[in-house]
Amino acid sequence: MKAARLEDGVLHIRDVPVPIPGADEAVVRISTAGVCHSDLHLARGDWGGIGRSGTIGHEAIGLVEALGPGADRFVQIGDRVILGLGGAGGGYWCGACEYCLGGQPRHCTQTKAILGTFAESFCVWAPSLVRIPDTVGDLEAPLACGGLTAYGAVKKLHKHDVVPGRPVAVIGAAGGLGHYAVQLASAFGYRVVGIDVGADRLDFVKSLGVEAVIDAEDAVDVVQRDFGGVDACLVFSARMAGFRLGLKLLRRSGLFVAVGIPPTSEGNLELNMFEFFMKDPTLIYSAVGTVQDMRELVDLAAAGRVRSHVGRVGALTDLGSIFDELESGRYVGRAVINDLTR
Ligand SMILES: [Zn+2]
Ligand SMILES: [Zn+2]
Repeated sequence: MKAARLEDGVLHIRDVPVPIPGADEAVVRISTAGVCHSDLHLARGDWGGIGRSGTIGHEAIGLVEALGPGADRFVQIGDRVILGLGGAGGGYWCGACEYCLGGQPRHCTQTKAILGTFAESFCVWAPSLVRIPDTVGDLEAPLACGGLTAYGAVKKLHKHDVVPGRPVAVIGAAGGLGHYAVQLASAFGYRVVGIDVGADRLDFVKSLGVEAVIDAEDAVDVVQRDFGGVDACLVFSARMAGFRLGLKLLRRSGLFVAVGIPPTSEGNLELNMFEFFMKDPTLIYSAVGTVQDMRELVDLAAAGRVRSHVGRVGALTDLGSIFDELESGRYVGRAVINDLTR
């Protein structure tokens, strides 16, 4: 079967053996695989150089085609499923350590990643699979990481006492994660301020039904004038400038939710301690979500409360050009590979 591989940062489409499932594993024939910004960061070695060799891809929808011993406790052959869970943490968790039992399986000491969905078939730990109804189409594959990550971040608002009705800024609102966050936060009843760069991207955000759309350049002044600062910022930026902007937009005692991971070369987020003292913000990171979050998100998608905006569709051999287009912002929303055989 065909599969994409990175070899020293160079993308190749290779012929590899079809995987054979082990205990509690399922082989999924991939119908559609989403292209996540993390795949690009790995290909470019953006994060301290990690990941420049190996299989990639961690968002997919497909059909279960083979089961290892015991996997039939979780799924059946022929089930249509979504898989990915943001790559990290979706491949295995022990279920018994302090983190698993505390509801944070991502931090499980035995965690394994899901990487390799840019392939005709993929072998995955069956408990991480979520069945999807026919009303959720194949183009919704990016829900598996982009959608889940946005959902996880929006759920943090409630957890940290930012209640519906309050103003919340989404930075990077037109992007692969941000466009989900604005839909979800609006559906939950927040007053959503969508922030991005450029007229086309702002028009797209407006079409998602948010309360206000602001260009990043004007955001500090306009948010202050119209809202007196926001109660929370969800930062989905691939650039450090978006994180700095997020801190500036918060009102006193606001919630800062970091989601993206800019390249290591962009440096660090710095805090002025006097401003920190004055503003007294809560700073948290939000990474992907759990299988339960994925089930809830599939329900929201089935109810029409959230949709993937797919701005680019291609075959497996288009993956290299899709990376280039993603890097230069040439499409809005997400890209998907809907033909893994060529
Ligand atoms: Zn991802
Ligand atoms: Zn564990």
